[in-house]
Amino acid sequence: MYYSGDSHNGTVKCALCPHGCHIQKGKTGICGVRLNNQGKLFSTNYSMVTGIHFDPIEKKPLYHFYPGSSILSVGTFGCNLQCVFCQNFHISHPSNMEILNTKSVSLNRILKASIEYKDNCGIAYTYNEPIVWFEYMFDIAVPARQQGLKNVMVSNGYINRKPLEQLLDVVDAFNIDLKAYTNSFYNDICGGSLQPVKNTLQAIAKRGKHLEITNLVIPGLNDDTKVFGEMVKWIAGELGNDTPLHINRYFPSYRLQIHPTPTETLLRLRTLAMEMLNFVYIGNVSQGGDLSNTICPQCRKVVIERSGYSIGSKGIDNQGNCAGCGRRIVVL
Ligand code: SF4
Repeated sequence: MYYSGDSHNGTVKCALCPHGCHIQKGKTGICGVRLNNQGKLFSTNYSMVTGIHFDPIEKKPLYHFYPGSSILSVGTFGCNLQCVFCQNFHISHPSNMEILNTKSVSLNRILKASIEYKDNCGIAYTYNEPIVWFEYMFDIAVPARQQGLKNVMVSNGYINRKPLEQLLDVVDAFNIDLKAYTNSFYNDICGGSLQPVKNTLQAIAKRGKHLEITNLVIPGLNDDTKVFGEMVKWIAGELGNDTPLHINRYFPSYRLQIHPTPTETLLRLRTLAMEMLNFVYIGNVSQGGDLSNTICPQCRKVVIERSGYSIGSKGIDNQGNCAGCGRRIVVL
């Protein structure tokens, strides 16, 4: 889907993501998975699964969407960004396909497992970048929705508007990585650009889909207080101050081997973010408590206690509102 061909020289232009790769015969785009096969764009990862697990939905992370439920999480291989700090580089940019434990899994099997598992709310497309699994994800998401399952995408948001609008018809909730708030970070560290990700976030918010944002804070690269403050201000102004923000701790991975983010940095940025946003969490730290609990912005009661990925008490009613004051908190 989303490509055009040139009948003279057999190249194709992919229109799925902002890279807009011109792909010669026998080659793939930057994502490494969309192949020009005799003038037709072919998805080499269609139905190919590298990971399939029931995960707590908090692990995605989604803290305000069916809290405490499980979600069948599936992923394949390939990615359209090339972040030097990638935590999943073995499946995003596999150096050797033979060592990838990839299996073809039918969509019926994925659907059946999702329906039969107790307390499972739906299917999350995650682990690698699901945008580059567009066709298979969509083919699963349509019947999943018809069966009453929720579709969740954990993504870098680097996608063109038309395919995004198609996904917005069937996906219920998103966690989007906003990796930094400078174009230079996206250019130099990830091989992309910032504006398309902002466009994606605005489109999701405009369609009223559930949205949470993850920002991985890397020492010296995206931890500047002023720039971080501008990012939070933009989130609050454009997407709404109820948009949950997950500030995550970086650990060395792939091609970036610098010290993990100091806890003080995360706490400083959290304090700043909380001036503009109602739900701010710190992730990838052993310390839980206040850093991962949900506090009602109106009556200040702890409404969801978390310990790791487990939910303690839930002070919310069956409509997703604070049991104490009735303020809207989560989607149920
Ligand atoms: S999805 Fe892949 S082939 Fe298509 S434009 Fe993006 S990186 Fe290029």
